[in-house]
Amino acid sequence: MKKKVLEILKSGEYCSGERISQKLNVSRTAVWKYVKKLKEDGYKIESVTNKGYRLISSPDLLTEAEITDGLATKYIGKHIFYCRETDSTNNEAKRNNSAPEGSVFIAEIQSGGKGRLGRKWLSEDNGGIWMTILLKPRIALEEISKITLAAGAAVCKAFRGIGLSAGIKWPNDIVVNGRKICGILTELSAEADGVNYVALGIGINVNIKAFPKELENKATSVFIETGAEYNRAKLVRAVFEEFEKLYEEFLSGRVGGFIKDYKAMCITVGKNVRVIKPDCEFDARAVDIDREGRLIVETEKGKMHLNSGEVSVRGIYGYI
Ligand code: ADP
Repeated sequence: MKKKVLEILKSGEYCSGERISQKLNVSRTAVWKYVKKLKEDGYKIESVTNKGYRLISSPDLLTEAEITDGLATKYIGKHIFYCRETDSTNNEAKRNNSAPEGSVFIAEIQSGGKGRLGRKWLSEDNGGIWMTILLKPRIALEEISKITLAAGAAVCKAFRGIGLSAGIKWPNDIVVNGRKICGILTELSAEADGVNYVALGIGINVNIKAFPKELENKATSVFIETGAEYNRAKLVRAVFEEFEKLYEEFLSGRVGGFIKDYKAMCITVGKNVRVIKPDCEFDARAVDIDREGRLIVETEKGKMHLNSGEVSVRGIYGYI
């Protein structure tokens, strides 16, 4: 009901308590209580005698009401499961995997954010977008890594849409000016005959003002790059809209299309890189991305196609 009161107030016009109570078929006291709750959530609502309530401003929260207002997707982000704090939104999605495809689990703070290969993802600051999209594609297991690539391309496009010169560090990091602004972690549940669900975790540093020493030279945020805060819900909508297009393209088998987009935004291609595998490390030159999204590198021994699941790639002199 609180959501419905908010929807009415989102018109921006004055609306009397009586009208709201009639529209929603609840008492005026109930309306007053919901308005009070919204104010506690950070909504600025004025009440003027003889005119009614009017919404002046909304808080920068990643609630369903804030995200879905103006969202132009068919199913990505249509159901938002919001919590102020969780261990990890990927875990949240895994615990609630019966939710419909495209459901999104989102938190203001993650106490145990995860990176790839058991690494940690710093997300204890509420200036980020820490979210997981739950997907249920009917595809073969070996196709899953392409979903990560599609997500990377979607986030990169969303950043470019707000004027940031973002690029993709293969396979799944988005970087701006040589520093990481977004990381993606895909986890899945599968059986021999196919995929049950995919938890596509996306962490974006938006209004984070500073990072701890160990990440200072490696991480950045929209705020650090532009000097201004950005409305997180708006950026979330842009990511959903870009991702749904690429995901649909992927599901319909037009993979070539989005791999081409991915390649055009990938800054790893053309660079000398250090390849880190579980059992060895070596230097190589990254020359291309193949149709499967694997990184093609050249070494003295010839060309190799690297699979994203098992390798990390670093610049010879630093992170990129
Ligand atoms: P990579 O493959 O580049 O190591 P991961 O996807 O495994 O990246 O992400 C984890 C790593 O990202 C961590 O080891 C840390 O160096 C870095 N990191 C952790 N939190 C953040 C953050 N909020 N922003 C940018 N980088 C981060």
